[in-house]
Amino acid sequence: MMHSKTVLVTGGAGYIGSHTVVELINAGYNPIILDDFRNSKSWIIDRIAQITKVTPTCHQVDCQDEGAVMEVVKNYPNAIGLIHFAADKAVGESIQKPVQYYQNNIGSLCVILKAMKSFGIKHLVFSSSCTVYGEADTAVVTEESPVKAATSPYGDTKITCEKIIRYNSNAHDNFGATLLRYFNPIGAHPSGLIGELPQGVPNNLMPYITQTAKGIREKLTVFGSDYNTPDGTNIRDYIHVMDLAKAHVKALQFLNNTACKESVTINLGTGKGTSVLEIINAFENVNQLKLNYEIGPRRVGDVEQIYANSERAKKLLGWTCEYSLNEALKHSWEWEKGIDN
Ligand code: UDP
Repeated sequence: MMHSKTVLVTGGAGYIGSHTVVELINAGYNPIILDDFRNSKSWIIDRIAQITKVTPTCHQVDCQDEGAVMEVVKNYPNAIGLIHFAADKAVGESIQKPVQYYQNNIGSLCVILKAMKSFGIKHLVFSSSCTVYGEADTAVVTEESPVKAATSPYGDTKITCEKIIRYNSNAHDNFGATLLRYFNPIGAHPSGLIGELPQGVPNNLMPYITQTAKGIREKLTVFGSDYNTPDGTNIRDYIHVMDLAKAHVKALQFLNNTACKESVTINLGTGKGTSVLEIINAFENVNQLKLNYEIGPRRVGDVEQIYANSERAKKLLGWTCEYSLNEALKHSWEWEKGIDN
């Protein structure tokens, strides 16, 4: 039997990570997960196995733990790349716990980069965010749009991690990376077996909607309807997590096929902006239910509108989105109905 290509995936049990692991297996790769399950559950691995008929190897490690990471990575010197998802990701929490966010997000990246260098792993796929654009000058942003000063420790860690990775590719001949700037991931695997597992009260719109529809939350509050947008609510670029997952496989192939030795920034969005009210209406229509919601005040720190220009992803990765917004809203709801909160 031909040995399939090994890829290390930190945070592979997480929301975007688990969907990417499924897509890696489907594309013939051998993903090795490093995850400490701080923001996931070990049964996600069983669900990945149920979907793909392959049980991925999983090492329970905290990526800040240099010794532990080295012990794992040394077993995979032939890995063709590393996809680094493991990080803290909640904007609000980062304001409460800045030190944890800097230590974990930056510390883990440094450990990962050291391990890659020690064991000759040349290619990194990194999870960044459109949050680096801040309050952008135009609603649609390209990768050349300016990076604005962050308004939260979370955002600042993404800006800083991008810089560290760029400096690392300048410093070393044998290191290339894609810095993937995600827009707003929503949806779940069409099987309903894996999806997002928010801890406590969700901050993000989609899990708040599905938990409200399920009766776990009494009411959704729309954060502001007096913005300068057609219906007054914020506009974002909501991308199906399966499309995002597929983009990671393509990013890895791009790095390998071009023997990339630099850091390439790539937006991952649909290229289409959708308002909060449009999301609510579409969710109600596609799932045939009524959502209890009210219009409330603005949330501090929200940008008015942002969506991706995704031409670079199309050109470099040969990637475009395949799923519609309605499919994403249907899959989010199917996943929510199937879990015990
Ligand atoms: N939002 C909302 N009510 C909520 C959660 C979010 O109206 O309970 C809005 C929020 O103001 C923003 C959009 O939904 O316009 C997406 O918010 P999310 O936190 O999911 O993502 P981000 O702000 O990072 O784009």
